[in-house]
Amino acid sequence: MIMNESTANEDGRLQLAVFTDLDGSLLDHYTYSLENARPALERIREQRIPLVFITSKTRPEVEMLQAAMGIREPFIVENGAAIFFPDRYREWRIDTGFRQPPYTVIQLGASYSEIRRFVRSVKPGFNIQGFGDLSAEDIGRLTGLSPKQAILARQREFTEPFLMEDDAHLIDLQRVAEASGFKVTRGGRFYHLMGSGQDKGIALRRTVSLFLQNTHRRLLTIGLGDSANDLGILESVDIPILIPHPDGSYEKLDLPNIRRARHPGSSGWSETILDVLNTIEEGAA
Ligand SMILES: [Mg+2]
Repeated sequence: MIMNESTANEDGRLQLAVFTDLDGSLLDHYTYSLENARPALERIREQRIPLVFITSKTRPEVEMLQAAMGIREPFIVENGAAIFFPDRYREWRIDTGFRQPPYTVIQLGASYSEIRRFVRSVKPGFNIQGFGDLSAEDIGRLTGLSPKQAILARQREFTEPFLMEDDAHLIDLQRVAEASGFKVTRGGRFYHLMGSGQDKGIALRRTVSLFLQNTHRRLLTIGLGDSANDLGILESVDIPILIPHPDGSYEKLDLPNIRRARHPGSSGWSETILDVLNTIEEGAA
């Protein structure tokens, strides 16, 4: 349980918050559908539980998804590169970051122009193709995103997803990246190049500290992810939930209190959250 001493005694009730990866977790890996998550999403909406996306997706992609879902919540884009806090969210006050209407933004990663400069500098030595080297049509073909979604995925602000001709050179590329203040992580479909100071877990913990400054309740955090780059989410929450891959296998993550969803994607996401919420309610009754 994450508690802040100055606020813990003001109200005994629990404030829950859900932090979730998108691709392969809330969204099905192949179809990007969240249809099977509807039951838990409805419960989250009814109980007014904050639902924070932590994703490799871009701000425009998240905005489109939130608009389609009819929600307006804080979100973390491009693998922990930045937290976007919507104006007047629960009338909370965010006294850090910079204004980018309609958000306050807390940037933890590098800028995309820095990242692209590095990509161009290593392209002669390493055969890599970044989103900035690909057309929206290429990205659509590689990801299965619709043409409209692929355009939004290409609107990067902080990080670069890329493909590498020969994985054997990954270690060398990582070394060169580190020497320049960047790092390489592996996502579901692509490698990602990003600023070395960013991570999904760091961004989550910053968001939690902003929540604690604004809520006068005890905070209980639930986190969901499916890949190695979600470890930061799962180790930073009170209740970590690991979603299996489409073939039913689980990412090898060693956390003592982890719960394993029984089904991949949106159906496992929904079923496990409902289980957890029911258990919490029974405990509180
Ligand atoms: Mg994922």
